[in-house]
Amino acid sequence: MADERSVDVDEPTNPAPAAESARRPAVGVARLTPVQEAYSAYARHFLNCDACMDRSSPSCETAPLLWRDYQEQVEAVRAKLLGR
Ligand SMILES: [Zn+2]
Repeated sequence: MADERSVDVDEPTNPAPAAESARRPAVGVARLTPVQEAYSAYARHFLNCDACMDRSSPSCETAPLLWRDYQEQVEAVRAKLLGR
């Protein structure tokens, strides 16, 4: 379980080629938007992290990084919608 924490931090954003992924059969879940993926990574970490689930202690070092990544994705979408 401890090893999974470091995996989440380095989780890359995989820009799969659109044409290729369109031909791939849907397995499991549909493609998520970057915002959804970022939030999913945060939520997945949170639910599997002893430090995060233990409310009596401050959260771990990984959670804030994942949350910040999520915030950045949200901000990117907002900037795009505002045309900046
Ligand atoms: Zn954590």
